[in-house]
Amino acid sequence: MEDLRLLVELQGIDARLFELRKDRERLPKLISYAGETLRQVKAELEAAQAELDQAGKEKRAAEAELQAENEHLNKLKLRTTEIKTNKEYFAHLKEIEDCQKKITKIEETELELMEKVEKAEAAALEKKGLADEEEKKFGERRIEIEGRFIAGDKEIGELTGKRLEIFPRISETTAQYYSSILVKYPESAVVEAANTSCMGCRMMIPPQMFNNVRKGESIVKCNNCRRILYYREPVAEPAK
Ligand SMILES: [Zn+2]
Repeated sequence: MEDLRLLVELQGIDARLFELRKDRERLPKLISYAGETLRQVKAELEAAQAELDQAGKEKRAAEAELQAENEHLNKLKLRTTEIKTNKEYFAHLKEIEDCQKKITKIEETELELMEKVEKAEAAALEKKGLADEEEKKFGERRIEIEGRFIAGDKEIGELTGKRLEIFPRISETTAQYYSSILVKYPESAVVEAANTSCMGCRMMIPPQMFNNVRKGESIVKCNNCRRILYYREPVAEPAK
């Protein structure tokens, strides 16, 4: 029966199409998954840059404070000539001393901040290197993944063409039944009957029915799962 032969061929195509399309749906997820490390490294780079910005701000603030205190000290020194009493003189000396202490403290802080900036710069540079490397790796991986799917898309196109050629050659009732059962079993709407069982659901096929399948003169459906059954002659073992 020609219908049955075509159905077997069609099921082969449909099963492969189902597999390819299912695979196709995974593409965005695969690409997103491949970019996981890159996203992580980029986040680390951002954090390192934020830290560097913060350290830079602190350093500039200390520099400004130091400049202000130095100006303050100069003004104090200029005022020395205006002092008249001893009491005023000692108070003035104390003010100068306090200002100098403050300057020393700010200078120490400034040194610490310079070191902090240097470290933050090195860390940010290292993260930048890692991010660039990951970016490159991800780009390559993406091309690789997409390449795989380009091949799949090509195959989908070819199989769809073949399907369009085969489908109209099947008698209408059979084609309709096949289409409806294919929704339920996209990969196995047409299955082999082997060892007197349906290879779809593994249920035993009554002997008379099995004979009908074997004859291949009509469309036989499994009593249990309603898949279309066909019989394939066992391939003889080649003589050794
Ligand atoms: Zn069955």
